[in-house]
Amino acid sequence: MKTIETFDFKKKKALVRVDFNVPLNSNFEITDDNRIKAAMPTIKKILNSGGSVILMSHLGRPKSGFEEKFSLKHLVKHVSKLAGAPVKFASDCIGNVPMEMSRDLKPGEILLLENLRFHKEEEKGNEEFAEGLASLADVYVNDAFGTAHRAHASTAIVAKFFPDNKMFGYLIESELKSMDKVLREPSKPFTAIMGGAKVSDKILIIENLLDRVDNLVIGGGMTYTFIKARGGDIGSSIVEEDKLDIALHLIEKARKKNVKLILPVDNIVADKFDAEASVQEKPIDKVPDGWLGLDIGKESINHISEVIRDSKTILWNGPMGVFEMEKFEAGTKGVAMAIAEATSRGAFSLIGGGDSVAAINKYDLSAKVSYVSTGGGAMLEYMEGKELPGIKAIRG
Ligand code: AMP
Repeated sequence: MKTIETFDFKKKKALVRVDFNVPLNSNFEITDDNRIKAAMPTIKKILNSGGSVILMSHLGRPKSGFEEKFSLKHLVKHVSKLAGAPVKFASDCIGNVPMEMSRDLKPGEILLLENLRFHKEEEKGNEEFAEGLASLADVYVNDAFGTAHRAHASTAIVAKFFPDNKMFGYLIESELKSMDKVLREPSKPFTAIMGGAKVSDKILIIENLLDRVDNLVIGGGMTYTFIKARGGDIGSSIVEEDKLDIALHLIEKARKKNVKLILPVDNIVADKFDAEASVQEKPIDKVPDGWLGLDIGKESINHISEVIRDSKTILWNGPMGVFEMEKFEAGTKGVAMAIAEATSRGAFSLIGGGDSVAAINKYDLSAKVSYVSTGGGAMLEYMEGKELPGIKAIRG
């Protein structure tokens, strides 16, 4: 397999799939440029090695054809500033316009193509469309981890037109390295912490992790499906009635596999789902009628933090409570701090999934954990043990 580190890009045109799906405000200004920054090591490596870069990405969910608010032209200036190189813009990603611009592209220059999703062929994984993209360049680099779980033209299909010249960019390489470290060679004890609103989103990942972890901590809204399945009183807490059997199956699987399944023992209950609600602390299986559990309690935080601090590998996905509201953030904050502490003592910690990433950033701890994944859905699917089309297209 070719790698970005060793490939000779001199005088080569590299077609690089990036994830520039960044939020724009009503003046079309970028409000969070993390995804653009994440692609910079790959872009700079190619430019510094004497190559030129053709960037392709999607932005938002355009319905059909061009829409001003989803145009990648709004990113040109900022990409140029971050890359420290001139950026030309092709008003279409396919056809004569990018073809001619690609022909004129010189080493050290960047060409940014218009939003791939202005053509429905992109999401359909159309071969002809992929071949058209491929014809623009000599080599294909996929660095869009956030869309690696999609079999789209630019993320998977295009790779077949570069049988000998395809590779991952640095971002995907490091995402894979962190996830494989956790899935394939975790130092023990290995603790996974699963939270968030719904158990239904996390069943497959929990199943897969039960074959690998020593401790599985359950928190957040999904706790109550487990507690109800065990016969506890959960008041008006969030629950998935149709998943009670699955919760029992997971409890049983954990027992058989000798995995310590750690459910909260206490929780903060509120009289309504509101930042100003009245609250009290109650045992997890004694939520009063009409009240709802919105965070784990003190005893749970202490116990879970202790387990985390004694771990050598930690995977965290999903908040322990409604951390967006101050009254219900202690559990999530406690877990985030314990992970940072364990990391400072040498543990490897991987944080993934939109809301736990938001939490780790909220508490300013992203530099104190080992790796924060950039791809929510893609990371979840990889952790479920699925083969991602964008990864398979290159790894084979
Ligand atoms: P998810 O996208 O499934 O990871 O869920 C994240 C969301 O779950 C966050 O917005 C939290 O506010 C929410 N959440 C966490 N704990 C609870 C809870 N006990 N009840 C309701 N929602 C919760």
